[in-house]
Amino acid sequence: MITARGLSKTYRLGGAEVQAVRSVSLSIARGEHVALTGASGSGKSTLMHVLGCLDTPTRGEYWLNGAEVGRLSRDARAGVRNAHIGFVFQNFNLLPRLSALENVQLPLGYGRRLGGKAARAAAIAALERVGLADRMRHRPAELSGGQRQRVAIARALVTQPSLLLADEPTGSLDSATGRDILALLTELNAAGLTILLVTHDAAVAATAHRVLLMADGRLLE
Ligand code: ADP
Ligand code: MG
Repeated sequence: MITARGLSKTYRLGGAEVQAVRSVSLSIARGEHVALTGASGSGKSTLMHVLGCLDTPTRGEYWLNGAEVGRLSRDARAGVRNAHIGFVFQNFNLLPRLSALENVQLPLGYGRRLGGKAARAAAIAALERVGLADRMRHRPAELSGGQRQRVAIARALVTQPSLLLADEPTGSLDSATGRDILALLTELNAAGLTILLVTHDAAVAATAHRVLLMADGRLLE
């Protein structure tokens, strides 16, 4: 599903350069559950942003589902994300004024009416998949942290992505709630979803089948 060769990402801040990712090569097959781990500042989020087509590499090749996507325009990358990738972040990134159902419908609603029947049915199905069908009308402030992250996972699933990228998805949760969210990811992987889990926490990384370790922008193993 993913083949990266010699990916590098250099940020330029004024006159200074930060080499956040240095010549990373990796492959991830369909159906894998992979963790990307390493200390804070080692380049995990930067690499995830490149693999998620949120950002472009400074150097290197990135193939996703058979297409080279490392040099696409901003609009073309948005199209790739919408077609292939779901995202889950540490801080949920839900819109506070929208209900859980509306938040989950959002990726299907761009440019269309949010209330479309098919979009609504897909959003309900996604909320059922994460065990939150009984909280559809709640706004984020009316949900617990774990429930908010479930809404965010449902929103990531509603476009039926082939790849789920999760950046520190348990980072804002207590440990018991974090374990529930990791169990949900394991369950989604068992049902066929390819997952790349980004975490600085070795115990979280251990829930994946394979662990990739980064240090100072490089992939060690
Ligand atoms: P991690 O997710 O492993 O904590 P990051 O990918 O966020 O690491 O950061 C890797 C390095 O790149 C760090 O030194 C960080 O300060 C730097 N960095 C991250 N994002 C930016 C940015 N937008 N501009 C400049 N430097 C950045
Ligand atoms: Mg990070």
